[in-house]
Amino acid sequence: MNDINQLNLKNILEQAHIGIVIHRWDTTIAYVNPKALELLRLSYDQIIGKSAYDPQWQFIDDRGRKLPFDQYPVNKVINSRNKLNNEIVGVIDGSAKDISWFQVNAYVEGEVGKGGFVIVTFTDISDAKKMFSFEDIVQNTQDIVIVTEAGDIDYPTGPRIVYVNKAFELLTGYSSSEVVGETPRILQGALTDKAATKRIHTALEKGAAVTETLLNYDKNGRPYWIEFNIIPLVNKYGETTHFAAIERDVSEIIFRQEQLKKRNEDLRVLKLKLEEIVENRTQELERAKAKLEKIAFFDPLTHAPNRRLFRDQIIKLISASQRSNSAVILGLLDIDDFKLVNDKFGHDIGDAVLVELAQAIQAIFRTEDTFCRYGGEEFAFAASASQEQDASVLGERLLNAARQLKVHTESKDVTITVSIGMTAVDAKEITDFEETLRDADKALYQAKSEGKDRFVVIT
Ligand code: GH3
Ligand code: MG
Ligand code: MG
Repeated sequence: MNDINQLNLKNILEQAHIGIVIHRWDTTIAYVNPKALELLRLSYDQIIGKSAYDPQWQFIDDRGRKLPFDQYPVNKVINSRNKLNNEIVGVIDGSAKDISWFQVNAYVEGEVGKGGFVIVTFTDISDAKKMFSFEDIVQNTQDIVIVTEAGDIDYPTGPRIVYVNKAFELLTGYSSSEVVGETPRILQGALTDKAATKRIHTALEKGAAVTETLLNYDKNGRPYWIEFNIIPLVNKYGETTHFAAIERDVSEIIFRQEQLKKRNEDLRVLKLKLEEIVENRTQELERAKAKLEKIAFFDPLTHAPNRRLFRDQIIKLISASQRSNSAVILGLLDIDDFKLVNDKFGHDIGDAVLVELAQAIQAIFRTEDTFCRYGGEEFAFAASASQEQDASVLGERLLNAARQLKVHTESKDVTITVSIGMTAVDAKEITDFEETLRDADKALYQAKSEGKDRFVVIT
């Protein structure tokens, strides 16, 4: 068989790897090849003889909208009498709700009108056709997208912008048509970090990705901070043809960071100042506390312990003596005729005498003993008795200390004597030391009445 006209054309259609459907003029299907059945996922019986108006067809356009009848490929050809070229049509699979995407061609075979046919051929492009448009995403994302050519990246012309999205237009105030053909350098200005732009250039030269934060300027010269990554776009031969920059306006974040930095610095200074204030305050307080303690426990004139401290110490001394089964000597010492000293030499000299006497007494007592300025010119004392120190020894030493005391004045040296009343009791017998002290007072009274400059011990 050499005559090509003798070929079984129908057999060829059966073997074809494209879907072929032949409609009569009334759109009923006269023929469908096996590939078409496979692509449409229908059986021969489901399709043969059905018209385009059969409810089993659900066609959509490439934007997902349902096609009206007159837009079905076969109807379009019948209505327009024109060929249909590479039209994208989606067919919804009734059962699975799956969409198959076909690239469809159709034309009239034979005479136009009743005796003619419409031949529809189609191939499955589902793999290539996505349900949604990535371009739409890029165009509408809130991130800024700029695509430049990779060919010439050098100053002053390169790299040339070939695409910007809506977010770019919104942020910069430049329209797409104003910047396509320009270089992104038009967005840079006086304060743009030169080191950063250099790093970007170096990365682009190598066709490498880069991430930077940079100060840019909009059409009105308003500066803003953008953080961006630039990614090289590679063609199927592995050549970098374009760079895509995906950018975010981070002005607000940078502004807040600056604010935070400043606030932290302010806080740091404030903290230092506070620390200084606290330090000064602490020192002041410590000084005040020391002063208060002095006031609270010591007599301000003679610096001898006051009654309060004496009371604390005497209680400790009594209990210690109770533990060691020893006796306690309690005494009162009063300056003789002190009034006269004041009268003759003045109050200041009187004060000086008190100070000197306090020091002289203190020197006599051991650390475990205690004494205080009990009243005007009267001192109280307590000492635990021992073999070396009984009341009379102590009394003698105190009298002598007072006798030896001299306070110089312009006219003559002031000397004094004192009278002392004491009681020596077993520590265990003391329940209230103030009561015991009253015995000492009686002894003192006795010493005074017996002529002063002496001690009396009541046991
Ligand atoms: P006597 O021997 O009986 O104790 O006579 P006296 O003059 O010491 O007795 P009196 O208790 O009557 O007088 C005590 C005097 O001590 C009265 C008061 O002016 C004086 N005096 C009390 N406290 C102070 C003081 O802090 N400084 C001075 N300079 N004098 C004081
Ligand atoms: Mg007195
Ligand atoms: Mg006196």
